[in-house]
Amino acid sequence: MSFHNKETIKCPKCGQMQDITVWTAITANDSPDLKEDILKRKINIFVCDICGAQALMPSPVLYSDSEKKLMISFSPCQEDAEKARLLEHMQKASKQSEELNNFKGYNLRFVTDYNELIEKILIFDCDMNDKVIEFIKLMILSQEPERAAYRTVKFGKLENNSIEFLVQDKKDGQFYTSSVPVETYKEVEKQIYATGVKPYSFNWELVDVNYASMLLNGFNNPLI
Ligand SMILES: [Zn+2]
Repeated sequence: MSFHNKETIKCPKCGQMQDITVWTAITANDSPDLKEDILKRKINIFVCDICGAQALMPSPVLYSDSEKKLMISFSPCQEDAEKARLLEHMQKASKQSEELNNFKGYNLRFVTDYNELIEKILIFDCDMNDKVIEFIKLMILSQEPERAAYRTVKFGKLENNSIEFLVQDKKDGQFYTSSVPVETYKEVEKQIYATGVKPYSFNWELVDVNYASMLLNGFNNPLI
């Protein structure tokens, strides 16, 4: 079941009061239209009828897909310290309530950015796991280590047995694509799972570039 609240908010730019539907939970299986709206970046985005100003509502949303065994908690937040606090709070609360017993075998993800939410939905829609994808992103960055600090890599699409990534270089302002064969994905997947990483979660997980670096260090360290 998907849930929402009706709120009346004041436009941050022109001050006009306007009603907005704020979604708090979206289940992909019975609300495919809402899932499409997430992918089109339309959920919980305030758009002023008068001046056109746009703003993301700060409300958290829980996205779930029982077919893909995926749950994503999207808590809009930009501060690293606050992000860590929110995640810790969620992990503790879930442990205490034992609610996660109902989601055995699920991948539970915590994201704070709308782009990350969309990216993870797309990855799991292709029957891939973001833990492997994040690792491959690091591999792409390491191809040109001197530029890695300026670059971000995003999952693009799966097509013709190849995974397309979008690379943004903030130094030269350019976008590139980088393709990785599905065989490489399968090889990396095998290696990652061999180290003990699970393709499911025991609690909410933040799977990002730092997570992948941690895995990489694990690979290089024979003691782990
Ligand atoms: Zn306005």
